[in-house]
Amino acid sequence: MQTEMTTAEFEREKRIIAAKDLTAVFSSVLQNQNRTWTVMSQWTPDKTYYVNSALRNCTCPDSTYRQVKCKHIIAIELTLKARVK
Ligand SMILES: [Zn+2]
Repeated sequence: MQTEMTTAEFEREKRIIAAKDLTAVFSSVLQNQNRTWTVMSQWTPDKTYYVNSALRNCTCPDSTYRQVKCKHIIAIELTLKARVK
């Protein structure tokens, strides 16, 4: 039985951790109108990505080219979840 994490799982875990950093430490998630969000890049503060939380897409390379749920989308989900509490 395979118990080790696959690379995809590991990558996903990494993005969840990065998303928590984005919301908790950097507080760099800003809500715009029409369910769009501006998220500042974690490592390059002058770079920003735009997320549509309704369509669940983002302008970063992870979302655009790799078609994965990127840390920016996860960060917004965490922000929305925190708001409901
Ligand atoms: Zn992204």
